[in-house]
Parts: sequence; structure tokens; C-alpha cells
Amino acid sequence: MKYRHLFGPVNSRRLGFSLGVDVVPYKYCPLNCVYCEVQRTTHLTLRREEFFPPEEIIAELTDFLSGAPALDYITFSGTGEPTLYSAIGRIVSFIKASFPQYKLALLTNGVLLNDPELRKEILPCDLILPSLDACHQNVYKRINRPHQELKVANLIRGLAALRHEYDGAIWLEVFIIAGINDTEAELNCLVKAISKIKPDRVQINSLDRPGAEDWVKPAGVRVLGHVQRYLQERTPFPVEIIAKVHTEAAELEIPEDIEQGIAATLARRPCTAEDLAQIMGIHINEVSKILRQLHSEDKVWVKREARGVFYSWNH
Ligand code: SF4
Repeated sequence: MKYRHLFGPVNSRRLGFSLGVDVVPYKYCPLNCVYCEVQRTTHLTLRREEFFPPEEIIAELTDFLSGAPALDYITFSGTGEPTLYSAIGRIVSFIKASFPQYKLALLTNGVLLNDPELRKEILPCDLILPSLDACHQNVYKRINRPHQELKVANLIRGLAALRHEYDGAIWLEVFIIAGINDTEAELNCLVKAISKIKPDRVQINSLDRPGAEDWVKPAGVRVLGHVQRYLQERTPFPVEIIAKVHTEAAELEIPEDIEQGIAATLARRPCTAEDLAQIMGIHINEVSKILRQLHSEDKVWVKREARGVFYSWNH
């Protein structure tokens, strides 16, 4: 069976061996984060929709999970915001009822969690990983470029409400951009927000691959260490740095046929990761991982154009 919604399993730093479930079309999101590795948001929306028939996703999950694969998590993630999918509750209930041996995780920007109905739908998840990168509205706008109706105060309220109702684990991600959200004023405000949200862990992240905007750079070890200590000394929750150490280079064995396919395509014309995913029938997350690896080996070069980041084969 060819999967449209499942990708991986990928070996994820945070989640171990994780099967990705992508339930929204490419770049439907209420935010347009400057660091987004899937590039700029093309559909900035707050409207929850049934983008795909749930039966389609359930059929893929049934097919894959019936083989009893070893997984650490099944994870809602992908190229947009999973909670925009109005049938996510049906998929959550299906997995928990039919394959209760698997743990279920949700990667979310959290902005829709003010909706009590949505919170109820995701309660059976074992782990929720929301994001909070800023606390003042002007910083939130600068980093996350939210839909015009969104206020960061409501995001914090939604996350606190989730904590109140949800018994599972919450790992709160804070993405640091040096000079923007590592100031004392912002960190103080984050301390207050974290105290309300009461996550089980705070995870500090930074840029690991090309983001939506060129000016975003990885935060250095010193900045990340300062943020970690600042938050750790002022909150009772474990605070850890999850930003990748950039010396982890050759970690991926790329199958020869996939590398040849990418080489043949890019030799003819430069493509974005999305173009390649469509041409080769591989999920964009897999393509991005392979392109990152090829880039680190100098086999492809990268150029940013109006339509996105283009890759060319380096002859
Ligand atoms: S990082 Fe996540 S929340 Fe931000 S724009 Fe990308 S998909 Fe949306």
C-alpha cells in the first residue's frame, strides 16, 4: 500500500523510533514561524477542516500497524498544524481502541488549544509537545508571525487549561533565536508562563536546518546554556537543551536508488523539497532529511528563490 499520510518510522531525538502521521495538507498552519523547516506558510488559517476522509488515514494505519512494527511512538506531525484537522479525535480514538499497545504523541503549536472540544479530542494522547517561543505579543509576532486574530496570552491560557484537564505528559518546546527571545524581559515572562503551564519538561531548541527566513541562525552553545540555566533556576520543571549538536554529521545511509533518483532529477532542474516529494512519491519529511544529508556531503547546493529553497545537484 502506498502511504499518503504515514511517514517513517524516523529515528527522532525526542521520541525515539516514531511513525509520523500527517493529517493536514502542506503548510496549512495558524502560524508562519521564521524558523519553520517546512518553509513559509502558504495557508495561514484558524479554520479546522476535514481535509481528508478519516477512513483514508485509518486504512493506512491499519495496514501499517497490523504488521506489529516496533515503535516508540505514533506521532501526529508533518507539514502543517495537526490540530487543524477536524477529525483528529476520530483518529486518536481509533488508534487507542485498535492498537492500544502503541504510545501516541502530538506535536502542536498549541494555538487552538483554547478550544475545549479540541482539548477533549486529544486527551487520550500519551504525550503532547506544544511550543511557546515568546510571551510578549511583539516578540510572538516577530518569531511566529501568527494569524491576525491570535494573541499569545490566549495560547498560554489554552496550554494552562490543557494541563488542568490532561493527565499525560507535556513537553514544552521553546525555540531560541539569539537577540530576540533570549533577553531578560522575555525570559522572565517565559518563566511566568511556564509556571502556569506546569509542563513535565521544558525543551530548548534552536535552528538545525534551513528555516523559512535566511536571517534566522542557530543559537550558540553559550546562549542556549544561559537560557537553560535561567529557566531552570526559576522553575521547578526539568529544563533541557534538545538543539542538535552540529557535529553529528554522517548519520544517514541513503539508499542508492533514492540518491540516484534525486541526482537524476536535480541534474535536469533545481527543485524544492516539496517538488522532490511529489516527483519521487516520498514524504517531504523524508526528502528533507535526505537533502540535509546530501548538503552536508556537498552533493547538492542550495539557493533561495521566491517560491522556496531550491536544491541543485553538485556535479
Ligand atoms: S514551525 Fe510548526 S507552527 Fe511554525 S509555521 Fe512551521 S508548521 Fe507552523
